[in-house]
Amino acid sequence: MSDLPALEKSALEELRACSDEQALRAWNSKYLGDNGAIKLALKKIGSLPAAERPAYGQQVNRVKQTLDQAHQEQEGKVKQTELERALATETLDVTLPGRPVARGRLHVATQTMRQILAIFADMGFQVYRSREVEDDLTNFELLNMPPHHPARDMWDTFHTTTPGVLLRTHTSPGQIHVMRELCPEPIRVVLPGMCYRYEQITTRSEIMFQQVEGLAVGTSITMADLKGTITSFARRVFGAERTIRIRSSYFPFTEPSIEVDVDCILCQGSGCGLCKQTGWLEIMGAGMVHPVVLKNGGYDPDKFSGFAFGMGPQRITMLKYAMTDIRLFWGNDLRFLQQF
Ligand SMILES: [Zn+2]
Repeated sequence: MSDLPALEKSALEELRACSDEQALRAWNSKYLGDNGAIKLALKKIGSLPAAERPAYGQQVNRVKQTLDQAHQEQEGKVKQTELERALATETLDVTLPGRPVARGRLHVATQTMRQILAIFADMGFQVYRSREVEDDLTNFELLNMPPHHPARDMWDTFHTTTPGVLLRTHTSPGQIHVMRELCPEPIRVVLPGMCYRYEQITTRSEIMFQQVEGLAVGTSITMADLKGTITSFARRVFGAERTIRIRSSYFPFTEPSIEVDVDCILCQGSGCGLCKQTGWLEIMGAGMVHPVVLKNGGYDPDKFSGFAFGMGPQRITMLKYAMTDIRLFWGNDLRFLQQF
């Protein structure tokens, strides 16, 4: 037992001499570490006569506690000294520019999509999402395009290995889903999402693109409601002074069908490169829901009527920013994406 006071004394003396963290670490492993003096002293207990063991053990533990505490105190002192030294000698130049933090952002397509959905939300349209993998029945037939229908040529698509299962070519099959879910309640929804078409990729066409489709079904809905809805939308997106132009068109699922143009945002209608000298920009297709489609959704076309419209957010974005190449959207080029 006589060696313990000597051990304690020399340990404390050495500790007082430790003036940096490295010395403290070395001291710690010498006395308190796995192979340190305290551990060795504990191991010695077994070789002592049984009568001496309890007293010796107590003594070792007391020394251990003393050293532990002294070590903590010395560590605190060393840290404080080092901090004071750093404050006194190192200088901080607060005028240096900070390191830039890379900020993420939403893809421009998502930004446009959200803006479109927000505008229609203000007009009371709810968002209805439906599946991207469809069956032929819902994607074509129930939308008034039976297998022989020539309009199918405009919407060639990607078929899965399961016959009759395909990637949707437009968001319109969502019309069938929402009508069957809500019939006979009135409907006012927008259907956003990705669509797929088997097309040659050019500056104007992609094999995947987003669409937003709108559908309103009720007992007294007319073309005037459609025109008013589209006009409000166009003015929110392209500016309060915009006027729209309606041309007759053809879609299998609407009757009558229309194409909607907005007067050119660059030249205000006098003719420029963006509008190809026509003064007008085509923004969407629309029409009154075809009676066959209403019936397929569960609504009686003699009592109910409705309008539908569909547009491509990519096209809207291209018009807004006068972009000329649709491939940029999914090209993953940061030089393009970081502009928005
Ligand atoms: Zn123009």
